[in-house]
Amino acid sequence: MKCRRCGEVAQVALPSHHTGFCPTCFLDFFRAQVARAIRRHRMFGPDERVLVAVSGGKDSLALVHVLGEMGYQVEAMHIDLGITGSSEPIRAFVEDFCRTRGHVLHVVETAADGLAIPDVKRAVRRPICSMCGKIKRHWFNRFAFEHGFAAMATGHNLDDEVSRLFANTLRWDAAYLGGQGPTLPGEGKFVRKVKPLCRLTEFETAAYCFFQGITHWHEACPYSGGASFTSHKRLLADLEQVSPGTKMAFYENFLHTGRPAFAAAGKAGYGELQACAECGYPSSGEICGVCRARRMVAGTGPT
Ligand code: SF4
Ligand code: ZN
Repeated sequence: MKCRRCGEVAQVALPSHHTGFCPTCFLDFFRAQVARAIRRHRMFGPDERVLVAVSGGKDSLALVHVLGEMGYQVEAMHIDLGITGSSEPIRAFVEDFCRTRGHVLHVVETAADGLAIPDVKRAVRRPICSMCGKIKRHWFNRFAFEHGFAAMATGHNLDDEVSRLFANTLRWDAAYLGGQGPTLPGEGKFVRKVKPLCRLTEFETAAYCFFQGITHWHEACPYSGGASFTSHKRLLADLEQVSPGTKMAFYENFLHTGRPAFAAAGKAGYGELQACAECGYPSSGEICGVCRARRMVAGTGPT
């Protein structure tokens, strides 16, 4: 197969786009897809500061790198969860990546907020990943808000978005269907959330990392019990194989037709929230889940 743009030997086949690219033209294609997502979904402009949550996985590393390459005012943030034997090497890896690639990196230690994940796991009687996710989202937003970032970007790709959409559709979960999308506008102390890789698949992101020489952290968290949505991703991969372009069409048609219908039902957005009495960030109750967890770890709240 020949590269569609320059006629050189293609090294990446993209059946969903009925095409293939050589490495140079693939990188142009990748940046063009990111630019299109940013423009079409009004994510941020060149004068706005963007914070990227960098976990050490390929998607977040690819995201901070491509936004930097494209000239955006991007900075990275890593959350050190305080998991002995796991968090230290991941943090060192991310620090090394940002140093060698010239990205500004901020590190937040949850232990400094009384929320080292092993302590939370011991104190809180609920699945640790749900609590850990809540703590990470809280600190990502809080840091972005307190440091004046216009948007916070995550490395969710098309496969993540489509498998989540598929799960929400199977349940006809109107609240989530109304709120799902590549841009969630900011509101009060919530900073705008964006997903610039939403038009790119896992394969395409992996290919970008390969051609850019980006290695990523492979080891799973000791508390992970297997990724959710894996079976949905497998089903969707089968569909894509039979009918290339299905995933993108499903997602685009949802954004165009499905989401407005659910948003009109008034269930999109952040819902009714009040300021947490302890941290001041939006909460569905008097004290937010993160502050409740901190109390439990400290032994000053219910367990
Ligand atoms: Fe947190 Fe580990 Fe669960 Fe991921 S797998 S949410 S890092 S506890
Ligand atoms: Zn709080």
